[in-house]
Amino acid sequence: MVICRCGFQTVIQTSHTNANPGRQFHYCPRRGTRGCGLLLGPIPPICPMCFELLAELERTTSMNKDVGRKLLAGKKETESSTFHKLDDVSDIHNDQGW
Ligand SMILES: [Zn+2]
Repeated sequence: MVICRCGFQTVIQTSHTNANPGRQFHYCPRRGTRGCGLLLGPIPPICPMCFELLAELERTTSMNKDVGRKLLAGKKETESSTFHKLDDVSDIHNDQGW
């Protein structure tokens, strides 16, 4: 447990910046208001290799999100074109008096 200069227990937050991916920091709980602005970290200190791995993981995760969004967009297009084809078929049926 870490106590900041205002006497509060610090808040632990995980960083998602490119510089410190996945690293945890202690913040003053009153940060941004009238807090002492305490910032300690990262905790625990990590080795350079782990740092590289975490950075790579962050990059891959964001890439996968992009791919997922593209796949979803493509799926929607496919679904709507299928509906158009069904409409065409029913039009033909109507023409033939079905
Ligand atoms: Zn504080």
